[in-house]
Amino acid sequence: MREKKSEKSPSKNEQKSPNRAKKSEKKMSKTSSSSARSSSTHAGFVAILGAPNAGKSTLLNRYIGQKVSIVSPKAQTTRIRTLGIMSEGDTQISFIDTPGIFAATSRLDKAMVQAAWSSLADADVLMLMIDASNRKENERITVIIDELKRREQSVILVMNKTDDIHRDYLLPMVAKLHETGLFSDVFMISALTGDGTDDLKKFLVNKMPESPWFYTEDQISDLPSQILAAELTREQIYMQLQQELPYAAAVLPASLEEKRDGSVVIRQTIVVSRENHRSIFLGKGGSRIKSIGEKARADISRLFDRKVHLFLEVKLDEKWQDRPDFYRTFGLDYGKK
Ligand code: GDP
Ligand code: MG
Repeated sequence: MREKKSEKSPSKNEQKSPNRAKKSEKKMSKTSSSSARSSSTHAGFVAILGAPNAGKSTLLNRYIGQKVSIVSPKAQTTRIRTLGIMSEGDTQISFIDTPGIFAATSRLDKAMVQAAWSSLADADVLMLMIDASNRKENERITVIIDELKRREQSVILVMNKTDDIHRDYLLPMVAKLHETGLFSDVFMISALTGDGTDDLKKFLVNKMPESPWFYTEDQISDLPSQILAAELTREQIYMQLQQELPYAAAVLPASLEEKRDGSVVIRQTIVVSRENHRSIFLGKGGSRIKSIGEKARADISRLFDRKVHLFLEVKLDEKWQDRPDFYRTFGLDYGKK
């Protein structure tokens, strides 16, 4: 198990060195003689943990200022480990937006939970985010808290959605969570309105160790562009097909090709697991898919700051959730049979 894990996500020490070495190597190779230059810069990793819908992606997007991780009113839309990178002053923070941690039954759920826990090994700060407006949240997070306690890493508590809750209710809830003894610090924020998010950011910046930056200043994610683009299409699917299609579709990157004129041609495959879903996606006379494509194209174009041509194909594959390839594409562990 340990060994299997170490392919993707080894223990803290093993993980950090090769990971960091590799990333800084790229940067350092040009300037390998100036090894002392790291003394004035700070860089590190912050893992955002929490139940689905806590507001993790919303906060990440606020800090990064772009649509890196997709936001949706539905639970569990973050399937992949998204890294958002914030560079400010002399500090660079790489945020790990973990897929929701929750009780897993299906193979896909298990892979998501596994990815979330293993990402903790990379982090300088663990942040547990809780939806303070959701009274059922307490039950869901006891599992997470128990697991975190076992890890003996210091964790900060972030109560989100304070815009949507009464103080009378919030304070006892915080007091109860504090009693667990797990948290070193507590923040109350609204990722939506921005309330309290600057204080939290300052705190995180101060926690980043001295280190050279791992990415260039203009990099906002280490996810491949193709995956980022596929995520934006998936977001449109969630937005436009809310009721009709719960979680039964995936968007796979097929190709990305840069043209001479600077524009990009992107092809993606929407994989559905039922025949009748295909017609839902297409809509009357193809109107649905056209609308999804138009909005996604605009978002991708904004993200890449380029003209984008987007081509979508809808494919039926009843078994996509069981195919190892799919998991590999998104950097998830397929797990054992
Ligand atoms: P994630 O699953 O943890 O990544 O959660 P998302 O960032 O996707 O947010 C889930 C839902 O909660 C979305 O509808 C957000 O708009 C909403 N949300 C996030 N933060 C806040 C907040 O501070 N206040 C309120 N009222 N809603 C929020
Ligand atoms: Mg999310």
